[in-house]
Amino acid sequence: MPSTALADTIAANRASIQSSIGAVADHPVELIAVSKRQPDERIEAALECGHRIFGENRVQEAQEHWGGRRDIEGLTLHLIGPLQSNKSEDAVALFDVIQTVDRPKIVRTLAQAAEKIGRTPDVFIQVNTGQEPQKAGVLPSGLADLVALTRDTYPGRLVGLMCIPPVDEPAGPHFALLSKLAARHGLEKLSMGMSADYALAASFGATHVRVGSAFFGERESD
Ligand SMILES: *Cc1c(COP(=O)(O)O)cnc(C)c1O
Repeated sequence: MPSTALADTIAANRASIQSSIGAVADHPVELIAVSKRQPDERIEAALECGHRIFGENRVQEAQEHWGGRRDIEGLTLHLIGPLQSNKSEDAVALFDVIQTVDRPKIVRTLAQAAEKIGRTPDVFIQVNTGQEPQKAGVLPSGLADLVALTRDTYPGRLVGLMCIPPVDEPAGPHFALLSKLAARHGLEKLSMGMSADYALAASFGATHVRVGSAFFGERESD
């Protein structure tokens, strides 16, 4: 059992994030609590205060955190980190939503894994809005083809777009671009905004914000 103080802190963080979002957005925004590199007692505390939507950026760590908890009622797990094709089956088996589809090979391996395992997580396409060479995500110029391929070959639903803006630029223009691209392709969901800018993202129409340290406290370094 987590200490009462810890449970209180996390419940207060959660309430404060939700109220900041509520102050700027009049549409529903799902708060994804990013539990990567967080101690188990904090995850327990989050569950205890009723939180059920979590994000992880590595498949293996997610299995360690959530493999034994998959039967918790209402639990929704999002993969928000880069996916290697050899992890597609594990990802399809564990996650409800995969936000980081960014190349044809991943679409194909996810489609195969979904057929084999008989689960079809919803997917988002990650867009490299800042066109950063080192960053995951399809370039905006390649998005139309990847949307078409996903719709043609993935047996589950393509629901939206996700982005991680460059750290050294204002995030607003990236959020605006993602929103415009989603509208152009008829996609409803927008995953954007982290601890530093979730309220800004919500004001730009985010339907999902991914919040780690502001929800749980600082992460362990590794
Ligand atoms: C770690 C991570 C987050 C959460 O980061 P915080 O700054 O702690 O909120 C959000 N999105 C992605 C893709 C991440 O890897």
